[in-house]
Amino acid sequence: MSAEGYLALSPESLPRRLGGLAILRERVGPPETWQVKEVGDGNLNLVFIVTGSAGQAVVKQALPYVRLVGESWPLPLRRAFFEYNALIRQEARDPGSVPAVWHFDEGQAIVVMEFLTPHVILRQALIAGRRVAGLGERLGEFCARTLFRGSDLSMPAPARKADLALFAANVELCDITENLVFSDPYFAAPLNRHTPGLDGIVARLRGDLSLKVAAQHLKLAFTSRAETLLHGDLHTGSIMVTDTETRVIDPEFATYGPFGFDIGMLIANFLMAHFSQPGHESAPGQRADHQDWLLGIVETLWQSFTTEFSHLWRTERRGILYQASLYEDQGHALAAEQALDDLLGRIWQDMLGFCGIEMHRRILGLAHNADFERIADEGRRAACEARALAMGRQLMLGAGSIRGIGTVTAMARRMD
Ligand code: ADP
Ligand code: MG
Ligand code: MG
Ligand code: MG
Repeated sequence: MSAEGYLALSPESLPRRLGGLAILRERVGPPETWQVKEVGDGNLNLVFIVTGSAGQAVVKQALPYVRLVGESWPLPLRRAFFEYNALIRQEARDPGSVPAVWHFDEGQAIVVMEFLTPHVILRQALIAGRRVAGLGERLGEFCARTLFRGSDLSMPAPARKADLALFAANVELCDITENLVFSDPYFAAPLNRHTPGLDGIVARLRGDLSLKVAAQHLKLAFTSRAETLLHGDLHTGSIMVTDTETRVIDPEFATYGPFGFDIGMLIANFLMAHFSQPGHESAPGQRADHQDWLLGIVETLWQSFTTEFSHLWRTERRGILYQASLYEDQGHALAAEQALDDLLGRIWQDMLGFCGIEMHRRILGLAHNADFERIADEGRRAACEARALAMGRQLMLGAGSIRGIGTVTAMARRMD
């Protein structure tokens, strides 16, 4: 898409430019009553909350560059197109999991959607020590439903190939993942930064030849194994919650990739939340219960994912893979169960690797986590980050010999 005619919105211009949209007049009220606030706290885009006499809406607009870095790093507007297309698929595959999309303007790179309220970003809630009922179950279901239903296990082949082609054009956002996640942490890339106390560990990681080979095996999986439609950026900053509800936002990195990618990223972010907790304590041990709760989320998330994925496997396996004609229809339900178990085992191993690498890139690369960044004392922060780095390495190198989620959480506990 060319940027011709594109103009970035401002709180001042928004009512004039979008005031004619019937859906906004209906849901928000007449534009004369609108109050507009820019709230984007993300790395890339503009996000406005529009409040009027009848209600509220969110207006998200892509900028022609990376917001975090500035105009020196151009980034195409069409990421809004991928975000829109991912949101409507996620809604179809797991109804109620994402904000309802009300309008899409491709030329202006604008998605108008439901304002989630009183939701807050999960990462902020975790830093504050808050809990969310049903969090792990819900996120496990979201991963299972979107990943299963976006794949050849479920979709008609023509539709799935059309989607593969559509999302294959999300080149620039994939390029960010390919560089920032899979390569930058392991050399002195210009945009990297890390907490000063970590110099020794960083040097050891960059000198670890097996680790650098493992990282590129994972990158090969990401770039070549187009197994299903990924969210692509599923961290705790892409999740909004109340005390009892969980919603997923911001799928602009959507692309076809390995089943294990989204879950690995997500579990990494819960593990980092766990490792960061001591940095937020005013007395030692104060956050121990919260740490236990976070590791419980990790376990529940994986269990919920496998339970729901298995359910879909047994009830909705209508795609071109592992057809019932080969198994159940011949009275070989056992073969279907064997194939399911084998596939889940492969997803598990991939998941562990992606989980490990996400922990490295969030501590060594460009995009850091507030969980650690909010720890003002550099010595305390470095101590928390060092545990996450060590665990990340172990997950990447030990993926083949770690047998269950209880082992992962036991490892995290022992690194306390
Ligand atoms: P970016 O792609 O720039 O990271 P996000 O989609 O993550 O943008 O949105 C940035 C912030 O805007 C979120 O952290 C959240 O606070 C707010 N936000 C985004 N979408 C919604 C929504 N539908 N309802 C409420 N707040 C939202
Ligand atoms: Mg975001
Ligand atoms: Mg984003
Ligand atoms: Mg503990």
